[in-house]
Amino acid sequence: MRLTPEFLEELRVMLFKASHLLLDAHIHIRRKPMIGGVFGAAGFSLCSYNSTYTGLDVPTYLVMESSSGLMLAREGTKAEAIDLSRVVLQRIGPSVFAGWSAQFHAEVEANKAIAEAAKAKAWEERRAKFAAESATVAKKVPRRRAAVFAASNGKCHYCSTVLSLDGKWHIEHKMPRALLGGSEQSNLVAACVSCNMKKRDQTDLEFIASRGKPARPPLAEVSAPKPAQVCAVSNPTE
Ligand SMILES: [Zn+2]
Repeated sequence: MRLTPEFLEELRVMLFKASHLLLDAHIHIRRKPMIGGVFGAAGFSLCSYNSTYTGLDVPTYLVMESSSGLMLAREGTKAEAIDLSRVVLQRIGPSVFAGWSAQFHAEVEANKAIAEAAKAKAWEERRAKFAAESATVAKKVPRRRAAVFAASNGKCHYCSTVLSLDGKWHIEHKMPRALLGGSEQSNLVAACVSCNMKKRDQTDLEFIASRGKPARPPLAEVSAPKPAQVCAVSNPTE
């Protein structure tokens, strides 16, 4: 029986549509190469996947071209899928199928390129948005201030409090101007308001050393004095 061109085209459109849907669904498909008869040497695979209907795993069987994913049949049993795909292949003939295969390959590659381009565009839009936001902040912040901020890794040089570039923080002279410290980049650090106020005219090293001494005893010692007995046990060498 010869197939009319109209019927062939209808069949092609139907199989292409179903094959694209299946590829786009990204479901796990088990594949086993088929060998022999109209299927040749492993150009086709007997495939299956499970769908869950009312809690039951229902298998679906497919025969598809291994390289492109073009589907020839989709049935509820292996035997039906194999029989139908054999009939389809015999009716349409190898040369028509070769044409379909090439066309389907091209469509899959084109779809991949479209998806890649969309991903690249989304990435570029995100990057541009971030650059615009950064530029807005940078415009408000003088270049020298931004350089000091970057050199201090965005943290207070003394207490490591995280600062925000356009927030409240001071440019601090490590060697104070009162002690002839200069305004060159290497003498400048970012400092939180509280540290800068406390530091006054000390050098950075003096200030760090002074901060090392606790102003008052730790809270634990005030609220819970240890009995002498316990101290003796915890320090047996003394
Ligand atoms: Zn600080």
